[in-house]
Amino acid sequence: MTPRTSPASRIDLHTHSTASDGTLSPAELVRAAADAGLDVVAITDHDSTAGWAPALDALPTGLRLVRGAELSCRWFGAEPAVPLHLLAYLFDPDAPELVAELARVRAAREERGERIVNLLRADGIDVSWPEILAGAAGGTVGRPHIALALIRAGLVTSTSEAFGPDWLGERYRLPKEDIDVFHAVRLVRAAGGVPVFAHPRATRRGRVVPDELIAELAAAGLAGLEADHEDHSPAERAHVRGLAAELGLLVTGSSDFHGTHKTVRLGAFTTDPEAYERIVAEAGGVTEVASG
Ligand code: AMP
Ligand code: FE
Ligand code: ZN
Ligand code: FE
Repeated sequence: MTPRTSPASRIDLHTHSTASDGTLSPAELVRAAADAGLDVVAITDHDSTAGWAPALDALPTGLRLVRGAELSCRWFGAEPAVPLHLLAYLFDPDAPELVAELARVRAAREERGERIVNLLRADGIDVSWPEILAGAAGGTVGRPHIALALIRAGLVTSTSEAFGPDWLGERYRLPKEDIDVFHAVRLVRAAGGVPVFAHPRATRRGRVVPDELIAELAAAGLAGLEADHEDHSPAERAHVRGLAAELGLLVTGSSDFHGTHKTVRLGAFTTDPEAYERIVAEAGGVTEVASG
């Protein structure tokens, strides 16, 4: 059954919990989403579906949960390859190939985290990998967890400072072992999911891919583009909307909420009900939107 939403619906399709680099547990996240007045929230942890069950168990009445993930991908058509994020909605969490890829990426993230910590330690910076790993509490490890250790050590005062060029943004930045983006789009579709390119024009995060690549991804099965996001300038948002219209892709807006790791609030950007319903309609997956 396709859930109907009223025109007044507030729909946030990109949030993180402690299953990756957010600071609210999945249960706290769905409660916060209800408190923020959202009608629909998607849980999209980096490379993990571990938050799905606890979010579902705690789902408040009246809130709909879209189960998803944000996949760490890379486009190998440029030198060096460009990292990018693919949101995947309502896919089968047991699809073997996708499960294997996510497990591989999570394991590689742990190795990379430890290597970053070794680089820091070689420069006399006293951070501890076992402590950082414990801080991630079994969730997907990322640089935000290392940023917290730098803050605890009094070396920086904020996450954004920790992502500056002297720290995790450049000097102590190492690549992840991401999934080829075309492979990721195919795996998500094969698992019945709906792939949406997250913050595709976020130049402030680093290099972005050319529009030609987005056209190729659309031909390969990409469903949509995230336009309204805090990392997009108004001009970038307009550009993404124009491109989506040209390619027949749906457009989303979302907070990319990370709890206290970022300042953005739940529902800061939202998705139109028509786009949300298109995602639900395209999801041929095993999973459905859950309603609390
Ligand atoms: P990683 O996945 O380990 O490469 O780390 C990237 C994550 O760090 C993103 O998903 C964001 O949550 C966070 N992040 C990236 N850039 C910044 C920034 N400038 N300030 C704060 N957090 C950031
Ligand atoms: Fe993140
Ligand atoms: Zn992202
Ligand atoms: Fe995100």
